[in-house]
Amino acid sequence: MQNPSPEHNLDPTDLPDARGHFGKYGGMYVPETLMTPLFELTEAYHEARQDPYYQKELNFQLREFAGRPTNLYFAERLTKHCRGAKIYLKREDLLHTGAHKINNAIGQALIAKRMGKTRIIAETGAGQHGIATAAICAKMGFECVIYMGEEDMRRQALNVFRMRLCGAKVRGVTAGQKTLKEAVNEAMRDWVTNVRTTHYIIGSALGAHPFPMMVRDFHRVIGEECKRQILESEGRLPDEVTACVGGGSNAIGIFFSFLKDLGVRLTGVEAGGREISLGHHAARFAGGRLGVLQGAKTWILQNSDGQIDRTHSVSAGLDYAAVGPEHAYYNEKGRIDFGYATDSEALQAFQDLCKIEGIVPALETAHGIAYAMRRARELSSDNIIICNLSGRGDKDVQEAARVLGQTTL
Ligand SMILES: *Cc1c(COP(=O)(O)O)cnc(C)c1O
Repeated sequence: MQNPSPEHNLDPTDLPDARGHFGKYGGMYVPETLMTPLFELTEAYHEARQDPYYQKELNFQLREFAGRPTNLYFAERLTKHCRGAKIYLKREDLLHTGAHKINNAIGQALIAKRMGKTRIIAETGAGQHGIATAAICAKMGFECVIYMGEEDMRRQALNVFRMRLCGAKVRGVTAGQKTLKEAVNEAMRDWVTNVRTTHYIIGSALGAHPFPMMVRDFHRVIGEECKRQILESEGRLPDEVTACVGGGSNAIGIFFSFLKDLGVRLTGVEAGGREISLGHHAARFAGGRLGVLQGAKTWILQNSDGQIDRTHSVSAGLDYAAVGPEHAYYNEKGRIDFGYATDSEALQAFQDLCKIEGIVPALETAHGIAYAMRRARELSSDNIIICNLSGRGDKDVQEAARVLGQTTL
């Protein structure tokens, strides 16, 4: 097992710096008009985190509305099936609205309330972040607008209806590939225009400072619980923790508490798509390079002119050209390893987890499961691997049926 160099003595809580840099990654690459709102947000965020009343309300809503803590579940049959390391699953799929996204949506909505905002906007790809945002907006009485590419609206029609049921306006975006990247652009445009009344809840550990930091912090609860739970059930830390990586929020959330435990290998799993060749995948660390997209410097799939490449994944939530800047930093430092699972590996793991454990994972999550199964087989029964089960797969059943050609399951 590969370990980072001994001089690599980081304190993860010192990052990012005041301008949002994780080493050379991150930052605030935005138009002038957004600098002031981003500074105001940063200040409001720091104030809130130091306010015991805010912390209390956040913890209350995470417990009462979202359903925390989530189980750390020993996947006994999956372990037997793989004949290797013990596999544990952190059950973020059991949260209200079906994925980890609600942790961040609640945290940011409470910041928006403190700042006196009355309107919330968000972008969404697969729709999980849109649903989490629409739900918390309904509960807290915010006006809510969700931007979504028209291609994604078509693929996730049921999620669009769920958001509308919760009172959100869903605005279709017709530019470019009509997917997540274009929805982010549209949300940013709205924010610049309406920033006095409006807060923009970004859905992953992406974008300009302070978003990658805020989103990470709101998901750190996953790793904090997980560490406590594995110590309770096994009396020791795991050998490896793994999670799928779209923008990287569920991954950094579960990894964060283990960053200083150098004996715990951390592995992010990207979308390998059909294969690692231009336009057929979304594995930024396998085919990307340094650049700037939508506010941050990070690893991006782009051509030599900096033109953003087309991407592909069977899971909409991993189908994005950039990765969160904090992951780029830990990749460079050798603290987080990155691998990928292809569409077909993810679809196999999706079915395996259903059949063997009776758990229907999101297709995003299935990439992490595919890796965990592969890795468990390489390790021995003395080893422990934890996989973040970032979300449930109800939203994907139709797409899986279409791809697998089993319309009557
Ligand atoms: C959105 C989503 C992802 C990908 O986003 P990250 O920010 O990388 O976590 C992964 N799994 C599920 C279930 C999601 O909804």
